[in-house]
Amino acid sequence: MRQSMTLIPTLRELPSDAEIKSHQLLLRAGFIKQIASGVYSYLPLAKRALDHIEQIIREEMENAGAAELLLPALQPAELWQSSGRWYTYGDELMRMQDRHDRSFALGPTHEEVITSIVSDGIPSYKRLPIILYQIQTKFRDEKRPRFGLLRGREFIMKDAYSFHTSAESLDEAYQKMYQAYTNIFTRCGLDFRAVLADSGAIGGKDTQEFMVLSEIGEDTIAYSDGSTYAANIEMAEVHQVYERPDEPEKELSKVETPGQKTIAEVSGFLNVQSSNIIKSLVLIVDEEPVMVLVRGDHEINDIKVKNALNAGSVEFADEERTKELLNCSFGSIGPVNLPGTMKIVADKAVEAMVNAVCGANEEDFHYINVVPGRDFTVEKYADLRFIQEGDPSPDGKGIIRFARGIEVGHIFKLGTTYSEAMSATYLDENGKPHPYIMGCYGIGVSRTLSAVAEQFNDENGLIWPASIAPYDIHLIPVNMKDAEQADLAEKLYTELREHRYSVLFDDRNERPGVKFKDSDLIGMPVRVTVGKKAAEGIVEIKIRKSGEMQEVKAEELLDVLT
Ligand code: ATP
Ligand code: MG
Ligand code: MG
Ligand code: MG
Repeated sequence: MRQSMTLIPTLRELPSDAEIKSHQLLLRAGFIKQIASGVYSYLPLAKRALDHIEQIIREEMENAGAAELLLPALQPAELWQSSGRWYTYGDELMRMQDRHDRSFALGPTHEEVITSIVSDGIPSYKRLPIILYQIQTKFRDEKRPRFGLLRGREFIMKDAYSFHTSAESLDEAYQKMYQAYTNIFTRCGLDFRAVLADSGAIGGKDTQEFMVLSEIGEDTIAYSDGSTYAANIEMAEVHQVYERPDEPEKELSKVETPGQKTIAEVSGFLNVQSSNIIKSLVLIVDEEPVMVLVRGDHEINDIKVKNALNAGSVEFADEERTKELLNCSFGSIGPVNLPGTMKIVADKAVEAMVNAVCGANEEDFHYINVVPGRDFTVEKYADLRFIQEGDPSPDGKGIIRFARGIEVGHIFKLGTTYSEAMSATYLDENGKPHPYIMGCYGIGVSRTLSAVAEQFNDENGLIWPASIAPYDIHLIPVNMKDAEQADLAEKLYTELREHRYSVLFDDRNERPGVKFKDSDLIGMPVRVTVGKKAAEGIVEIKIRKSGEMQEVKAEELLDVLT
């Protein structure tokens, strides 16, 4: 592609609202442009990089025996009502009305659509198992869209779904997907880890997240020095609790936790508390109640505190006061120190606290139908505390270390959650109906692009791994007005493409300084410069990653490149 014919609007200035490297660089290098909060246009370079990621995904999905299809983004409310998620998904679901006042959602994920299709098309066990996938735009009305493509409201996802007649068959597909994901992220050049995750609200059991290791990651990973144990912090807390042997049972009314925790760790801890042990919580910092983690549509146990603080979905008793106490602004990057002692008050104290803080039975704070004793009695784990670096790992084989991660993929054994809710069944050998046993497997495609940009850059710009770089080679004649340079560059442009290299040809009449700066910024793996030595038939190769330079004869260029 001739640079004069494409659109690469590079910026010299640092965009003021971009906090992290990948977001800044993707904007500055002219890859993306924001259209609304969490909504981006992918400009030509980004489109090519995304295509390459998608190509890798398609190859690995094909290897795993998954067939591609494409489902609609626009989905009737009835479908979401049939699974119940119309009522439970919450504000992230983008809802709309058509001209006849019929309700629709823009798909944040596609379990309902795919289940209805399979249920209509595969009535018999004979056609199972099957794995289907799509690469499609998803919509989630994230409360705090941020970090560019990392958390968008419109983003690209690969989502796959598998349907089975037995748990063993699901295990097999899950393993295949695990392997495919490992291959995909390895081919993208990413430094990542697969971690055990919490199945939380969706039900089901085995689930793992693929985390790209990065300081700016919103998730905390607890891994083990000395064993293969790796879990996200929520799950590590669960393991720590449930796998601790011979713990005496005690009454829990207050849990003291040390200060100096990161927001992510706090949210992780609260998540475990709420989903596994108690049903509602008040977080107290220095004797003051600051957050009320009771939020339900219909039921008290409909608590969504998973990564609540980071996702911004916590109900605060007093948000301003909370920020003041925690001395941080939510949405900031990296660890935030909590001052003083933090206590999590559970049990009956909660009731009193919620009453005191915000009043019971107000909107979103339901206390109707709560049975103290059933919902609030907690007898175990009195000394529950945050899992910490240096703790023995739950498998007992190593020492816990923390790292931060970006969730780029997620694989999940759903079981029969959806098929049962939607009465989606197949018939067995005897003509008896059974709900499909399901798995689902997602990859954030646009998030992966950002994650790569986050891991591969330097002070001059992006450094794309060859597997997903928009172009293999950036070909730069220093001075297009110099006939010898222009001619040699044109010749190489043709030749390289004939040999199946993709080439970005900087045919612009820009100053050399501008061309080189842009070139470093957009970060193609190899630069071929045609300069003063064009007259002698000599060009220069520069490897973006290492900065290594080499002069070669033009006619030997192809040999050197291979
Ligand atoms: P997160 O915890 O970051 O909110 P999630 O667990 O809600 O993600 P999943 O429902 O597991 O996301 O969706 C599958 C994949 O889609 C995620 O692993 C992630 O890579 C990607 N993804 C999810 N939400 C977004 C988003 N808002 N923007 C970009 N990618 C996203
Ligand atoms: Mg989410
Ligand atoms: Mg997640
Ligand atoms: Mg997930």
